[in-house]
Amino acid sequence: MTNTDHTGASDRSAAPGSTEATVAVVGGGAVGVTAAVDLAARGATVTLFDRDDLASGASGRAAGVVYDAYAAAVDAAVAARALERFRAFDRTLPGFEFAACPYVIAVREGDEDAEAMPELVDQMRDHDRDVSLVDPDALGGRFPLRTDDLAAAAVAEGAGWTDPTSYVVAMGDRARREGVTVETGSEVALGDGPTVRVDGAEREFDAVVVAVGAHTERLLATAGIDVPVKPYRVQALTSRVDYGGPMTYDATAGVYFRPHPTGLLAGDGTVPVEADPDGYDPEGDDWFVETVSETLRERADHDPEVERAWAGVCTATPDGDPLVGPVADGVFVAAGWQGHGFMRAPATGELLAEGVLASLSDDAATDSPWIEAFAPSRFEGDETFEITEGMSVRNRGD
Ligand SMILES: Cc1cc2nc3c(=O)[nH]c(=O)nc-3n(C[C@H](O)[C@H](O)[C@H](O)COP(=O)(O)OP(=O)(O)OC[C@H]3O[C@@H](n4cnc5c(N)ncnc54)[C@H](O)[C@@H]3O)c2cc1C
Repeated sequence: MTNTDHTGASDRSAAPGSTEATVAVVGGGAVGVTAAVDLAARGATVTLFDRDDLASGASGRAAGVVYDAYAAAVDAAVAARALERFRAFDRTLPGFEFAACPYVIAVREGDEDAEAMPELVDQMRDHDRDVSLVDPDALGGRFPLRTDDLAAAAVAEGAGWTDPTSYVVAMGDRARREGVTVETGSEVALGDGPTVRVDGAEREFDAVVVAVGAHTERLLATAGIDVPVKPYRVQALTSRVDYGGPMTYDATAGVYFRPHPTGLLAGDGTVPVEADPDGYDPEGDDWFVETVSETLRERADHDPEVERAWAGVCTATPDGDPLVGPVADGVFVAAGWQGHGFMRAPATGELLAEGVLASLSDDAATDSPWIEAFAPSRFEGDETFEITEGMSVRNRGD
Protein backbone atom coordinates (compact mmCIF):
# COMPACT_ATOMS: atom_id res chain seq x y z
CA MET A 1 0.00 0.00 0.00
CA THR A 2 1.17 3.49 -0.66
CA ASN A 3 0.61 6.80 0.93
CA THR A 4 -0.44 5.70 4.42
CA ASP A 5 0.63 6.69 7.90
CA HIS A 6 -0.99 3.52 9.34
CA THR A 7 -3.12 5.51 11.77
CA GLY A 8 -5.38 7.46 9.47
CA ALA A 9 -4.75 10.53 11.57
CA SER A 10 -5.03 13.69 9.56
CA ASP A 11 -1.77 15.59 9.53
CA ARG A 12 -3.61 18.88 9.23
CA SER A 13 -3.19 20.73 12.50
CA ALA A 14 -6.74 22.10 12.31
CA ALA A 15 -8.34 18.63 12.24
CA PRO A 16 -11.54 18.96 14.23
CA GLY A 17 -12.63 16.83 17.13
CA SER A 18 -15.15 14.08 16.51
CA THR A 19 -18.32 16.09 16.89
CA GLU A 20 -17.27 18.67 14.27
CA ALA A 21 -15.88 16.29 11.68
CA THR A 22 -17.14 16.33 8.11
CA VAL A 23 -17.07 12.89 6.52
CA ALA A 24 -17.79 11.67 3.00
CA VAL A 25 -18.94 8.05 2.85
CA VAL A 26 -18.56 6.73 -0.68
CA GLY A 27 -20.78 3.74 -1.42
CA GLY A 28 -24.38 3.19 -0.34
CA GLY A 29 -24.28 -0.54 0.33
CA ALA A 30 -24.84 -2.17 3.73
CA VAL A 31 -21.42 -1.05 4.96
CA GLY A 32 -21.64 2.54 3.74
CA VAL A 33 -25.16 3.24 5.02
CA THR A 34 -24.36 1.78 8.43
CA ALA A 35 -21.16 3.82 8.69
CA ALA A 36 -23.08 6.95 7.67
CA VAL A 37 -25.74 6.37 10.36
CA ASP A 38 -23.15 5.63 13.03
CA LEU A 39 -20.97 8.61 12.12
CA ALA A 40 -23.95 10.95 12.19
CA ALA A 41 -25.14 9.49 15.49
CA ARG A 42 -21.73 10.46 16.91
CA GLY A 43 -22.08 14.04 15.74
CA ALA A 44 -20.24 14.03 12.42
CA THR A 45 -21.60 15.92 9.42
CA VAL A 46 -21.94 13.18 6.84
CA THR A 47 -22.52 13.06 3.09
CA LEU A 48 -23.25 9.62 1.66
CA PHE A 49 -22.58 9.19 -2.07
CA ASP A 50 -23.64 6.41 -4.38
CA ARG A 51 -23.10 6.38 -8.10
CA ASP A 52 -26.43 4.63 -8.58
CA ASP A 53 -29.11 4.00 -5.96
CA LEU A 54 -28.56 2.72 -2.46
CA ALA A 55 -28.23 -1.10 -2.51
CA SER A 56 -27.31 -1.16 -6.20
CA GLY A 57 -24.10 -3.15 -5.52
CA ALA A 58 -23.57 -6.55 -3.87
CA SER A 59 -25.82 -5.68 -0.91
CA GLY A 60 -28.85 -5.57 -3.21
CA ARG A 61 -27.95 -9.04 -4.56
CA ALA A 62 -26.99 -10.75 -1.31
CA ALA A 63 -28.73 -13.76 0.18
CA GLY A 64 -29.19 -12.29 3.64
CA VAL A 65 -27.77 -15.26 5.53
CA VAL A 66 -26.57 -14.05 8.94
CA TYR A 67 -24.64 -16.19 11.45
CA ASP A 68 -21.96 -16.10 14.09
CA ALA A 69 -20.40 -19.54 13.45
CA TYR A 70 -16.83 -18.28 13.31
CA ALA A 71 -13.88 -19.92 15.00
CA ALA A 72 -11.43 -16.99 14.96
CA ALA A 73 -11.84 -14.71 17.98
CA VAL A 74 -12.06 -11.46 16.02
CA ASP A 75 -14.57 -12.83 13.49
CA ALA A 76 -16.73 -14.27 16.29
CA ALA A 77 -16.72 -10.92 18.11
CA VAL A 78 -17.63 -8.96 14.97
CA ALA A 79 -20.39 -11.42 14.08
CA ALA A 80 -21.77 -11.38 17.63
CA ARG A 81 -22.00 -7.59 17.60
CA ALA A 82 -23.59 -7.59 14.14
CA LEU A 83 -26.22 -10.14 15.20
CA GLU A 84 -26.96 -8.16 18.34
CA ARG A 85 -27.63 -5.08 16.22
CA PHE A 86 -29.70 -6.96 13.62
CA ARG A 87 -31.94 -8.21 16.44
CA ALA A 88 -32.24 -4.73 17.90
CA PHE A 89 -33.00 -3.22 14.47
CA ASP A 90 -35.76 -5.80 14.07
CA ARG A 91 -37.50 -3.99 16.92
CA THR A 92 -36.41 -0.41 16.22
CA LEU A 93 -35.73 0.12 12.51
CA PRO A 94 -38.89 0.75 10.49
CA GLY A 95 -39.01 -1.38 7.34
CA PHE A 96 -36.53 -3.97 8.59
CA GLU A 97 -37.22 -7.50 9.83
CA PHE A 98 -34.85 -10.18 11.01
CA ALA A 99 -36.03 -13.81 11.07
CA ALA A 100 -34.27 -15.97 13.65
CA CYS A 101 -33.42 -19.37 12.13
CA PRO A 102 -30.79 -22.00 13.06
CA TYR A 103 -27.87 -22.48 10.66
CA VAL A 104 -26.69 -26.03 9.92
CA ILE A 105 -23.21 -26.82 8.63
CA ALA A 106 -23.14 -30.28 7.05
CA VAL A 107 -20.03 -32.12 5.87
CA ARG A 108 -20.34 -35.32 3.87
CA GLU A 109 -18.51 -38.59 4.40
CA GLY A 110 -15.22 -38.62 2.52
CA ASP A 111 -14.73 -34.87 2.90
CA GLU A 112 -11.55 -34.19 4.90
CA ASP A 113 -13.14 -31.02 6.31
CA ALA A 114 -15.19 -33.31 8.58
CA GLU A 115 -12.09 -33.91 10.71
CA ALA A 116 -11.67 -30.20 11.31
CA MET A 117 -15.25 -29.70 12.52
CA PRO A 118 -14.94 -30.70 16.21
CA GLU A 119 -12.05 -28.34 16.80
CA LEU A 120 -13.72 -25.49 14.89
CA VAL A 121 -16.91 -25.91 16.90
CA ASP A 122 -14.88 -25.96 20.15
CA GLN A 123 -13.30 -22.65 19.13
CA MET A 124 -16.71 -21.15 18.31
CA ARG A 125 -17.96 -22.23 21.73
CA ASP A 126 -14.84 -20.80 23.39
CA HIS A 127 -15.99 -17.46 21.97
CA ASP A 128 -19.44 -17.98 23.54
CA ARG A 129 -21.12 -18.75 20.24
CA ASP A 130 -24.14 -21.03 20.61
CA VAL A 131 -22.87 -23.68 18.20
CA SER A 132 -22.96 -27.44 18.79
CA LEU A 133 -21.56 -30.44 17.04
CA VAL A 134 -24.48 -32.76 16.37
CA ASP A 135 -24.74 -36.38 15.48
CA PRO A 136 -26.04 -36.61 11.88
CA ASP A 137 -28.88 -38.97 12.96
CA ALA A 138 -30.00 -36.53 15.63
CA LEU A 139 -29.84 -33.73 13.05
CA GLY A 140 -32.14 -35.73 10.79
CA GLY A 141 -34.52 -36.19 13.71
CA ARG A 142 -34.70 -32.47 14.33
CA PHE A 143 -34.81 -31.08 10.80
CA PRO A 144 -36.26 -32.17 7.42
CA LEU A 145 -32.81 -32.86 5.95
CA ARG A 146 -31.16 -35.97 4.58
CA THR A 147 -28.31 -36.83 6.95
CA ASP A 148 -27.36 -40.47 6.31
CA ASP A 149 -24.41 -39.46 4.09
CA LEU A 150 -22.96 -36.94 6.56
CA ALA A 151 -19.73 -37.41 8.50
CA ALA A 152 -20.10 -34.29 10.66
CA ALA A 153 -22.62 -31.56 11.32
CA ALA A 154 -23.01 -28.53 13.53
CA VAL A 155 -25.88 -26.20 14.36
CA ALA A 156 -25.49 -22.49 15.11
CA GLU A 157 -28.61 -21.54 17.08
CA GLY A 158 -28.18 -17.75 17.06
CA ALA A 159 -28.41 -17.25 13.28
CA GLY A 160 -31.10 -15.80 11.05
CA TRP A 161 -31.93 -14.25 7.71
CA THR A 162 -33.23 -11.01 6.33
CA ASP A 163 -33.74 -9.14 3.09
CA PRO A 164 -30.47 -7.21 2.56
CA THR A 165 -32.08 -4.58 0.31
CA SER A 166 -34.60 -3.76 3.01
CA TYR A 167 -31.73 -3.27 5.46
CA VAL A 168 -29.94 -0.80 3.19
CA VAL A 169 -33.13 1.10 2.36
CA ALA A 170 -34.19 1.26 6.03
CA MET A 171 -30.72 2.37 7.13
CA GLY A 172 -30.66 4.92 4.31
CA ASP A 173 -33.93 6.36 5.64
CA ARG A 174 -32.50 6.38 9.12
CA ALA A 175 -29.36 8.12 7.82
CA ARG A 176 -31.54 10.90 6.41
CA ARG A 177 -33.35 11.17 9.74
CA GLU A 178 -29.93 11.48 11.44
CA GLY A 179 -29.17 14.42 9.15
CA VAL A 180 -26.99 12.64 6.60
CA THR A 181 -27.05 14.20 3.13
CA VAL A 182 -27.63 11.31 0.72
CA GLU A 183 -26.48 11.96 -2.84
CA THR A 184 -27.40 9.12 -5.18
CA GLY A 185 -26.58 9.13 -8.88
CA SER A 186 -23.25 10.70 -7.84
CA GLU A 187 -20.16 8.91 -9.05
CA VAL A 188 -17.21 9.89 -6.89
CA ALA A 189 -13.56 10.16 -7.90
CA LEU A 190 -10.92 10.54 -5.24
CA GLY A 191 -8.81 13.66 -5.00
CA ASP A 192 -5.68 14.31 -3.00
CA GLY A 193 -6.18 13.31 0.65
CA PRO A 194 -9.74 13.51 2.00
CA THR A 195 -11.25 15.20 -1.02
CA VAL A 196 -13.68 13.85 -3.56
CA ARG A 197 -14.64 14.96 -7.05
CA VAL A 198 -18.31 14.75 -7.93
CA ASP A 199 -19.67 16.11 -11.22
CA GLY A 200 -16.36 17.90 -11.84
CA ALA A 201 -16.44 19.75 -8.50
CA GLU A 202 -13.81 19.14 -5.82
CA ARG A 203 -15.21 18.79 -2.30
CA GLU A 204 -13.07 18.67 0.81
CA PHE A 205 -13.87 16.68 3.96
CA ASP A 206 -12.00 15.79 7.12
CA ALA A 207 -12.29 12.12 6.20
CA VAL A 208 -13.38 9.99 3.27
CA VAL A 209 -14.65 6.44 3.85
CA VAL A 210 -14.42 4.27 0.75
CA ALA A 211 -17.06 1.51 0.96
CA VAL A 212 -17.50 0.81 -2.74
CA GLY A 213 -17.40 -3.00 -2.66
CA ALA A 214 -16.24 -4.48 -5.97
CA HIS A 215 -14.99 -1.08 -7.16
CA THR A 216 -12.54 -0.68 -4.25
CA GLU A 217 -9.29 -1.54 -6.01
CA ARG A 218 -10.24 0.47 -9.08
CA LEU A 219 -11.35 3.59 -7.21
CA LEU A 220 -8.41 3.70 -4.78
CA ALA A 221 -5.95 3.15 -7.65
CA THR A 222 -7.07 6.46 -9.16
CA ALA A 223 -5.69 8.13 -6.02
CA GLY A 224 -2.45 6.15 -6.19
CA ILE A 225 -3.48 3.83 -3.36
CA ASP A 226 -2.96 0.13 -4.05
CA VAL A 227 -4.97 -2.50 -2.18
CA PRO A 228 -5.24 -6.24 -2.93
CA VAL A 229 -9.05 -6.55 -3.18
CA LYS A 230 -10.20 -8.69 -6.10
CA PRO A 231 -13.80 -8.81 -7.37
CA TYR A 232 -15.34 -12.19 -8.23
CA ARG A 233 -18.81 -13.47 -9.16
CA VAL A 234 -21.08 -15.26 -6.67
CA GLN A 235 -24.58 -16.55 -7.46
CA ALA A 236 -27.95 -17.21 -5.87
CA LEU A 237 -31.41 -18.36 -6.90
CA THR A 238 -34.91 -18.46 -5.49
CA SER A 239 -37.37 -21.35 -5.78
CA ARG A 240 -41.16 -21.12 -5.63
CA VAL A 241 -41.44 -24.39 -3.72
CA ASP A 242 -42.02 -24.08 0.03
CA TYR A 243 -39.18 -24.83 2.40
CA GLY A 244 -39.68 -24.89 6.17
CA GLY A 245 -36.30 -26.24 7.30
CA PRO A 246 -33.26 -24.52 8.77
CA MET A 247 -30.66 -22.47 6.94
CA THR A 248 -28.24 -25.14 5.73
CA TYR A 249 -24.73 -25.06 4.34
CA ASP A 250 -23.80 -28.29 2.56
CA ALA A 251 -20.08 -27.63 2.84
CA THR A 252 -19.04 -30.52 0.62
CA ALA A 253 -21.32 -29.40 -2.22
CA GLY A 254 -20.50 -25.73 -1.55
CA VAL A 255 -24.22 -24.86 -1.51
CA TYR A 256 -26.32 -23.08 1.11
CA PHE A 257 -30.09 -22.59 1.32
CA ARG A 258 -32.64 -20.93 3.55
CA PRO A 259 -36.36 -20.22 3.81
CA HIS A 260 -37.48 -17.28 1.64
CA PRO A 261 -40.84 -15.52 1.20
CA THR A 262 -41.27 -17.14 -2.25
CA GLY A 263 -40.25 -20.57 -0.91
CA LEU A 264 -36.48 -21.03 -0.76
CA LEU A 265 -33.27 -19.13 -1.56
CA ALA A 266 -30.07 -21.02 -2.38
CA GLY A 267 -26.62 -20.03 -3.44
CA ASP A 268 -22.93 -19.84 -3.54
CA GLY A 269 -21.85 -20.53 -7.12
CA THR A 270 -18.51 -18.85 -6.56
CA VAL A 271 -16.59 -18.26 -9.78
CA PRO A 272 -13.04 -17.93 -8.43
CA VAL A 273 -11.62 -15.68 -11.14
CA GLU A 274 -11.33 -11.92 -11.18
CA ALA A 275 -14.52 -10.29 -12.50
CA ASP A 276 -15.03 -6.88 -14.05
CA PRO A 277 -17.38 -5.01 -11.67
CA ASP A 278 -18.58 -2.88 -14.60
CA GLY A 279 -19.02 -5.73 -17.07
CA TYR A 280 -19.85 -8.95 -15.23
CA ASP A 281 -22.76 -11.22 -16.21
CA PRO A 282 -25.56 -10.51 -13.67
CA GLU A 283 -27.52 -13.66 -14.60
CA GLY A 284 -27.03 -17.01 -12.89
CA ASP A 285 -25.11 -19.62 -14.90
CA ASP A 286 -26.80 -22.82 -16.08
CA TRP A 287 -24.21 -24.98 -14.28
CA PHE A 288 -24.99 -23.13 -11.07
CA VAL A 289 -28.73 -23.72 -11.35
CA GLU A 290 -28.14 -27.39 -12.16
CA THR A 291 -25.69 -28.13 -9.32
CA VAL A 292 -27.73 -26.24 -6.73
CA SER A 293 -30.92 -27.98 -7.84
CA GLU A 294 -29.22 -31.35 -7.47
CA THR A 295 -27.98 -30.52 -3.96
CA LEU A 296 -31.44 -29.30 -2.95
CA ARG A 297 -33.02 -32.55 -4.13
CA GLU A 298 -30.39 -34.63 -2.32
CA ARG A 299 -30.17 -32.70 0.92
CA ALA A 300 -33.68 -31.33 1.48
CA ASP A 301 -35.89 -33.35 -0.86
CA HIS A 302 -36.62 -30.00 -2.50
CA ASP A 303 -37.29 -30.10 -6.24
CA PRO A 304 -36.87 -26.41 -7.07
CA GLU A 305 -39.05 -24.40 -9.38
CA VAL A 306 -36.54 -21.66 -10.10
CA GLU A 307 -38.06 -18.21 -9.94
CA ARG A 308 -34.88 -16.21 -10.54
CA ALA A 309 -31.12 -16.90 -10.68
CA TRP A 310 -28.63 -14.06 -10.46
CA ALA A 311 -25.02 -13.12 -9.83
CA GLY A 312 -23.31 -10.31 -7.95
CA VAL A 313 -19.74 -9.40 -7.23
CA CYS A 314 -17.96 -10.10 -3.94
CA THR A 315 -14.41 -9.16 -2.96
CA ALA A 316 -11.45 -11.37 -1.97
CA THR A 317 -8.18 -10.56 -0.21
CA PRO A 318 -4.91 -12.52 0.05
CA ASP A 319 -5.63 -13.80 3.60
CA GLY A 320 -9.44 -13.91 3.47
CA ASP A 321 -9.79 -11.11 6.03
CA PRO A 322 -11.21 -7.71 5.10
CA LEU A 323 -9.40 -4.41 4.90
CA VAL A 324 -10.93 -1.97 7.39
CA GLY A 325 -8.99 1.10 8.35
CA PRO A 326 -6.80 3.94 7.07
CA VAL A 327 -5.11 3.82 3.68
CA ALA A 328 -3.93 7.43 3.40
CA ASP A 329 -4.14 10.72 5.23
CA GLY A 330 -7.87 11.02 6.08
CA VAL A 331 -8.85 8.20 3.70
CA PHE A 332 -10.31 4.95 5.04
CA VAL A 333 -11.38 1.73 3.34
CA ALA A 334 -13.76 -1.10 4.19
CA ALA A 335 -13.81 -4.01 1.72
CA GLY A 336 -12.78 -7.61 1.09
CA TRP A 337 -15.59 -9.52 2.78
CA GLN A 338 -15.17 -12.87 1.00
CA GLY A 339 -18.95 -13.15 0.67
CA HIS A 340 -19.63 -12.25 4.34
CA GLY A 341 -19.92 -8.48 4.20
CA PHE A 342 -23.64 -8.17 4.68
CA MET A 343 -23.83 -10.22 7.88
CA ARG A 344 -21.00 -8.17 9.40
CA ALA A 345 -22.17 -4.74 8.18
CA PRO A 346 -23.84 -3.56 11.41
CA ALA A 347 -20.57 -4.15 13.27
CA THR A 348 -18.36 -2.87 10.46
CA GLY A 349 -20.24 0.40 10.12
CA GLU A 350 -19.92 0.98 13.84
CA LEU A 351 -16.21 0.13 13.76
CA LEU A 352 -15.69 2.55 10.88
CA ALA A 353 -17.50 5.35 12.69
CA GLU A 354 -15.50 4.86 15.87
CA GLY A 355 -12.23 4.32 14.03
CA VAL A 356 -12.56 7.34 11.76
CA LEU A 357 -13.53 9.68 14.59
CA ALA A 358 -10.76 8.36 16.85
CA SER A 359 -8.27 8.84 14.03
CA LEU A 360 -9.38 12.44 13.56
CA SER A 361 -9.37 13.17 17.26
CA ASP A 362 -6.62 15.27 18.79
CA ASP A 363 -7.09 13.38 22.04
CA ALA A 364 -3.95 11.30 22.46
CA ALA A 365 -5.72 9.25 25.13
CA THR A 366 -8.24 7.89 22.60
CA ASP A 367 -7.60 4.19 22.17
CA SER A 368 -7.56 3.03 18.57
CA PRO A 369 -10.64 0.92 17.92
CA TRP A 370 -9.24 -0.41 14.62
CA ILE A 371 -8.90 -4.19 14.47
CA GLU A 372 -5.30 -5.14 13.81
CA ALA A 373 -6.16 -8.30 11.84
CA PHE A 374 -8.08 -6.10 9.38
CA ALA A 375 -5.41 -3.37 9.03
CA PRO A 376 -4.95 -2.46 5.36
CA SER A 377 -1.26 -1.80 6.14
CA ARG A 378 -0.63 -5.55 6.42
CA PHE A 379 -0.44 -5.60 2.63
CA GLU A 380 1.78 -3.86 0.11
CA GLY A 381 -1.09 -3.67 -2.34
CA ASP A 382 0.55 -5.49 -5.26
CA GLU A 383 0.08 -9.04 -3.93
CA THR A 384 -1.02 -11.71 -6.38
CA PHE A 385 -3.27 -14.39 -4.92
CA GLU A 386 -5.88 -16.98 -5.74
CA ILE A 387 -9.51 -16.14 -5.14
CA THR A 388 -11.07 -18.74 -2.83
CA GLU A 389 -14.63 -19.45 -1.82
CA GLY A 390 -15.51 -17.52 1.33
CA MET A 391 -17.95 -19.82 3.15
CA SER A 392 -15.81 -22.97 3.24
CA VAL A 393 -15.31 -24.73 6.57
CA ARG A 394 -11.55 -24.16 6.44
CA ASN A 395 -12.00 -20.40 5.98
CA ARG A 396 -13.84 -20.11 9.30
CA GLY A 397 -10.81 -20.98 11.42
CA ASP A 398 -7.84 -18.89 12.47
C1 LIG B 1 -25.26 -13.64 -4.69
C2 LIG B 1 -24.66 -13.10 -3.43
C3 LIG B 1 -25.05 -13.60 -2.20
C4 LIG B 1 -24.50 -13.08 -1.01
N1 LIG B 1 -24.96 -13.56 0.17
C5 LIG B 1 -24.48 -13.04 1.33
C6 LIG B 1 -25.00 -13.46 2.57
O1 LIG B 1 -25.91 -14.30 2.63
N2 LIG B 1 -24.48 -12.94 3.71
C7 LIG B 1 -23.46 -12.01 3.67
O2 LIG B 1 -22.99 -11.58 4.72
N3 LIG B 1 -22.97 -11.57 2.50
C8 LIG B 1 -23.45 -12.06 1.33
N4 LIG B 1 -22.96 -11.62 0.14
C9 LIG B 1 -21.86 -10.63 0.16
C10 LIG B 1 -22.41 -9.26 0.41
O3 LIG B 1 -23.34 -8.94 -0.60
C11 LIG B 1 -21.30 -8.21 0.41
O4 LIG B 1 -20.19 -8.66 1.17
C12 LIG B 1 -21.79 -6.91 0.99
O5 LIG B 1 -23.07 -6.60 0.50
C13 LIG B 1 -20.82 -5.79 0.66
O6 LIG B 1 -21.42 -4.57 1.06
P1 LIG B 1 -20.67 -3.21 0.73
O7 LIG B 1 -21.49 -2.13 1.33
O8 LIG B 1 -19.25 -3.32 1.13
O9 LIG B 1 -20.65 -3.12 -0.86
P2 LIG B 1 -21.81 -2.95 -1.94
O10 LIG B 1 -23.11 -3.43 -1.46
O11 LIG B 1 -21.29 -3.53 -3.21
O12 LIG B 1 -21.95 -1.37 -2.09
C14 LIG B 1 -21.00 -0.60 -2.76
C15 LIG B 1 -21.71 0.61 -3.34
O13 LIG B 1 -20.70 1.50 -3.84
C16 LIG B 1 -21.24 2.15 -4.98
N5 LIG B 1 -20.11 2.70 -5.74
C17 LIG B 1 -19.15 2.01 -6.42
N6 LIG B 1 -18.27 2.87 -6.97
C18 LIG B 1 -18.67 4.13 -6.62
C19 LIG B 1 -18.17 5.43 -6.89
N7 LIG B 1 -17.07 5.63 -7.60
N8 LIG B 1 -18.85 6.48 -6.39
C20 LIG B 1 -19.98 6.32 -5.65
N9 LIG B 1 -20.50 5.11 -5.39
C21 LIG B 1 -19.84 4.02 -5.85
C22 LIG B 1 -22.03 1.06 -5.68
O14 LIG B 1 -23.03 1.62 -6.53
C23 LIG B 1 -22.63 0.29 -4.51
O15 LIG B 1 -23.96 0.70 -4.21
C24 LIG B 1 -23.50 -12.07 -1.07
C25 LIG B 1 -23.12 -11.56 -2.30
C26 LIG B 1 -23.70 -12.05 -3.46
C27 LIG B 1 -23.28 -11.45 -4.77
